[in-house]
Amino acid sequence: MDARKKRILVTGGAGFIGSHLCEQLLNEGNEVICLDNFFTGSKQKVVHLLSNPYFELVRHDITMPYYIEVDEIYNLACPASPVQYQFNAIKTIKTSVMGSINMLGLAKRVKAKILQASTSEVYGDPELHPQPESYWGNVNPIGVRSCYDEGKRCAESLFVNYHVQNGVSIKIARIFNTYGPKMEPDDGRVVSNFIVQALKNEDITIFGEGTQSRSFQYVDDLVEGLKRMMATPDDFIGPVNIGNPIEFTMLELAEEIIKLTGSRSKIIYLPLPEDDPVQRQPDIQLAKEKLNGWQPKVQLTEGLTKTIAYFDELLKASS
Ligand code: NAD
Ligand code: UDP
Ligand code: UDP
Repeated sequence: MDARKKRILVTGGAGFIGSHLCEQLLNEGNEVICLDNFFTGSKQKVVHLLSNPYFELVRHDITMPYYIEVDEIYNLACPASPVQYQFNAIKTIKTSVMGSINMLGLAKRVKAKILQASTSEVYGDPELHPQPESYWGNVNPIGVRSCYDEGKRCAESLFVNYHVQNGVSIKIARIFNTYGPKMEPDDGRVVSNFIVQALKNEDITIFGEGTQSRSFQYVDDLVEGLKRMMATPDDFIGPVNIGNPIEFTMLELAEEIIKLTGSRSKIIYLPLPEDDPVQRQPDIQLAKEKLNGWQPKVQLTEGLTKTIAYFDELLKASS
């Protein structure tokens, strides 16, 4: 008998989170199809998996229909960094909306279970702190972040309605800021920006006064949470917050990175981008309860140390 467990499709599998997820799923004996249009991801991130006969890399854009037979789908395709998702805002909306419709249509046809990588951004600039799943959010529907926020909100609605109307087995995970090795050095996100700047002894760019906060989750904790969410009983569809509730200001983050890299970088202050949320912190009670006691294990210093080592090697290799 074939010992393979499941055939799993990972959209956006050549991205930062997707590449870690593909690797984990393969390690557990599954067959993995990684589908990506390489907008923000790259073959480089999964090149080490290509020799595995149970791994397939497919160049495809999820705004177009896709036909395959699978047991499970992790729908991660969508640029996640503000700079990247605002680069082609309409395409970002299409990816969340048309992409979700296609992947839900596929899940419906083959009776696959499908998980949506939603986001803390559905809470917008939250008026409630920390944010429980029951909070409806405070999103500017016409602001610069709306292509991402509203796209993801519409995707959640599509998932729920395919579940209610068509009986599709769905899971919605609201992911909070995640970092780790395989982020792109120039993706514009705060962790990658600060680490690269610190390693190059360049100025560290704080937007605004640096008092805005985020809660940073190490990628391994997230991948574990996503797999556990997929494995929950059919009657639990979420949404569930997956994040690390320990909150830091951007100034604290910059100082920690300077300390860990021993950098000579100076901190400089640049204007705060439009609609930048003031604070964000997940309430993870539901995750702890429903995901078999899941909780983040990797604390910031440990996670940053691993991420710094990754970027250090990357920068040395490219210089
Ligand atoms: P990423 O940009 O590294 O990965 C996204 C991947 O999707 C890339 O490989 C990209 O090429 C691919 N992609 C984009 N549009 C596509 C399309 N139309 N068709 C096929 N592939 C497409 O980002 P990430 O950080 O790995 O995020 C993965 C998912 O998790 C995203 O859906 C994102 O919204 C969600 N998420 C991430 C975070 C975070 O902090 N990283 C937080 C909340 C939610
Ligand atoms: N779809 C897909 N792969 C499949 C099945 C469907 O990409 O295996 C797409 C299909 O092109 C359609 C979308 O998913 O546009 C939604 O499918 P659904 O069955 O909900 O809608 P319909 O086909 O009735 O428009
Ligand atoms: N940020 C910053 N300097 C940078 C990049 C980002 O101060 O070089 C800030 C940004 O304004 C935001 C926070 O860091 O307040 C997190 O930004 P990121 O783009 O990583 O994620 P998101 O805003 O989507 O949470």
